[in-house]
Amino acid sequence: MSRAIELTKELVRFNTINPPGDERICAQHLGRIYEQAGFKISYHEFEDKRTSLVARIGGSAEKKPICFTGHIDIVPLGRKAWSKDPFAGETDGDKMYGRGVSDMKAGVAAFTIVMQQLAKQLERSPGVIVVITADEEKGCGGANHLEASGVLGHAGAIVVAEPTGNYPMVGHKGAFWVCAKTRGKTAHGSMPHLGDNAVYKAARAVSKLEGYDFGKPHAHPALGLPSLNVGVFQGGLNYNSVPDEAMIGIDMRTTPNQDHAKIKADLQRHLGVDVELEAIMDVPSVYTDPNDPWMQHVFDTVTPFLGKRPEPITGPFFTDAAALRKAFKSPPTVVLGPGEAAQAHQTDEYAHMSKIEQSVEYFTTIARRWCGI
Ligand SMILES: [Zn+2]
Repeated sequence: MSRAIELTKELVRFNTINPPGDERICAQHLGRIYEQAGFKISYHEFEDKRTSLVARIGGSAEKKPICFTGHIDIVPLGRKAWSKDPFAGETDGDKMYGRGVSDMKAGVAAFTIVMQQLAKQLERSPGVIVVITADEEKGCGGANHLEASGVLGHAGAIVVAEPTGNYPMVGHKGAFWVCAKTRGKTAHGSMPHLGDNAVYKAARAVSKLEGYDFGKPHAHPALGLPSLNVGVFQGGLNYNSVPDEAMIGIDMRTTPNQDHAKIKADLQRHLGVDVELEAIMDVPSVYTDPNDPWMQHVFDTVTPFLGKRPEPITGPFFTDAAALRKAFKSPPTVVLGPGEAAQAHQTDEYAHMSKIEQSVEYFTTIARRWCGI
């Protein structure tokens, strides 16, 4: 068994289900590997045991380092029973099973082994910054914390090793979740004229949302149109009371041409003063022009593994790249990793071990090319 596959198995054994996350011991396990390889490491906790790891090596005045990133939190097991142990890394043929094996401990393991192998040469090169985050699954918590703390410094390109089955993705939509509340005054249900019904106000707001138009065209050539969905509608506690509060959960998926603060202001104007808006998740979109020279290098590098040159596609899920690009001032970014996107968050989640091996090869090439080693 190769070291990348062994390390994937080691990482799967840490139960980092989020919530609660508890990423600390998993982060420390990786931290020791980087430290022994000669990287300078630092841990960053936004809450007790919610640990992200930053590891650096090399550096030069001429060129910024390249960033490799991945998250180590995983989603809950779900209601359905698993037929495999979700924390053992059991294998069957080419498949390794476990929660988070595809999303995305295989990706983290693969680039970690690459960094360990290249460490000596990376010392005298533009170098690498590795960012391993906690709490990605609930809206990039660890990455946002790193960005806000200003500890990340610089990077000239980002590789996000999320599960793409080794097919590069040039971007993804943003996710903007807004909680809308209406308030009223409660009264006995037999005397509604004494109250002020918050549900009626919310119903009017929902009708307006159904017809909501993002305004001037925001279609993006690769990411398409923005969307809006009302995913939650709650109000009232019992039949015989006038509800004094109601809540609407709004999920918007946005394109690079949109500004989330402006969307919120526009939504407020559209819904009026009866509705209070609060952003509860704010992850910007990510997009790199496929003609960017570095992106073309990445395409060259993966072509032999795919058997054909990749098309510039975008992904359905959001990633930590949204927060990291803010810190690094929007360098070219590729989402590329060995896990299977379709396996993310599934019962009996698995990854193909052959794809993990392939990712070790192309991550090596990508790091070597960037660093000129
Ligand atoms: Zn993920």
